[in-house]
Amino acid sequence: MRRQRRTKILATLGPASTSRDQIAALFAAGADVFRINMSHTPHDKLREFVETIRSIEQEQQRPIGILADLQGPKLRVGTFKDGPVTLANGSSFVLDSDKKPGDVSRVHLPHPEILAALEPGHRLILDDGKVTLQAVKCTPTRAECRVVVGGKLSDRKGVSLPDTDLPVSALTDKDRSDLDAALNAGVDWIAVSFVQRPEDVAEVKKVARGRAAVMAKIEKPQAVARLAEIMDIADALMVARGDLGVEMPMAKVPGIQKQITRQARRTGKPVVVATQMLESMITAPVPTRAEVSDVATAVFEGADAIMLSAESAAGQYPVEAVSMMNRIAEEVEADPTYRAVIQGQRAEPEATGADAIALAARDIAETLDLSAIVCWTMSGSTALRVARERPKPITIALTPKIATARRLALLWGVHCVVTQDARDLDDMVSRACRFAFQDGFAKPGQRIIVVAGVPLGTPGATNMLRIAFVGAETVDD
Ligand code: PGA
Ligand code: MN
Repeated sequence: MRRQRRTKILATLGPASTSRDQIAALFAAGADVFRINMSHTPHDKLREFVETIRSIEQEQQRPIGILADLQGPKLRVGTFKDGPVTLANGSSFVLDSDKKPGDVSRVHLPHPEILAALEPGHRLILDDGKVTLQAVKCTPTRAECRVVVGGKLSDRKGVSLPDTDLPVSALTDKDRSDLDAALNAGVDWIAVSFVQRPEDVAEVKKVARGRAAVMAKIEKPQAVARLAEIMDIADALMVARGDLGVEMPMAKVPGIQKQITRQARRTGKPVVVATQMLESMITAPVPTRAEVSDVATAVFEGADAIMLSAESAAGQYPVEAVSMMNRIAEEVEADPTYRAVIQGQRAEPEATGADAIALAARDIAETLDLSAIVCWTMSGSTALRVARERPKPITIALTPKIATARRLALLWGVHCVVTQDARDLDDMVSRACRFAFQDGFAKPGQRIIVVAGVPLGTPGATNMLRIAFVGAETVDD
């Protein structure tokens, strides 16, 4: 089984995609990695999802990635005495530490640390941007606010604080317990929500201890401001446009998406573009032209993966949404302008052996129009550096570690195969040819490039590049 495209598809699972048949259909339509949203998934359901995906993986003989997305410190107001209230522009509204149900003049904010951190002038954005307040007078137990944009407010609506440095860890107690459950279930990636500082990512990495790779969701202005440091420590990034568009002016989001995808490509960290990509397909079998264009933009930017949220988790057309993404990615990648756009955004290699070899592999493969770049990789780092070059031919990653193959499922242009470690150099080359042939990427008579670190199994020591013929004997083996 092989995909025809380089850009990967991440599909969120939920009530619309729970049964084995439904998940298998999403995989067949093009989902490469599945996302389990811990905001809505109890632990027994998480384990069931993981088991189902692993059994589909076994059946299909293709590594599939699983991402568990932690809810993070989502802040909410308390409840109201007589149902929803309507706040008028210019009026006063108080958030306080009093647990009593609220009314049109006040409501409980069950986060004392937030009340303590608020300062006059800070904005509070409620219910995904529907209501905006500005703090006027603040004490450690009470924030008196002016209603800047009024509207309806009801029980437990979300609160975003774009101007306040929150003295909270990115991990709540629920997140710690979810993280534990996800690691025990054997997921490949953990996504950290509402990251503000590099330490938030470090904290999760410390708990994960290499059992899963860690993705930082960029959805707060504080994270955008410290992007380079966060990128340094995270294994991957998500442009989480949903909350980003609440915490920052929406019109800034497309530019920030470009900044994040470019910097991620420069550093070689995988990057996912997420949220509302095909939003109208939650209730309709076809997307809007604007959505198609939005997905195409992410593909043109060279994002590693594009993501579906409610479209595949709770919508009426989950399989159609994946198929649509698949088609858009295939069409964009076949467009005559595509390679030039991708190449125009390519970053210089770093001064390492691995990057020099990755650059040379791409250069040779494109000059000679070779069929594939095959890399032997243990930790996945050789494949990461090759993918960073965004080469024209497919990158085939051969690894003895299933965990590596599953993580690499997220990467741009990488087709993973799990196979035993090579015995020697000859074995390495002949098996590279055989997998390139078997999986449909090269025909006898065509040539491929083999990249590896020799001696085998030395992590981070990419030092070999070889051009090899796919011979007739490969076919007979
Ligand atoms: P969420 O994250 O779906 O968990 O909120 C993505 C986003 O905010 O875009
Ligand atoms: Mn979010």
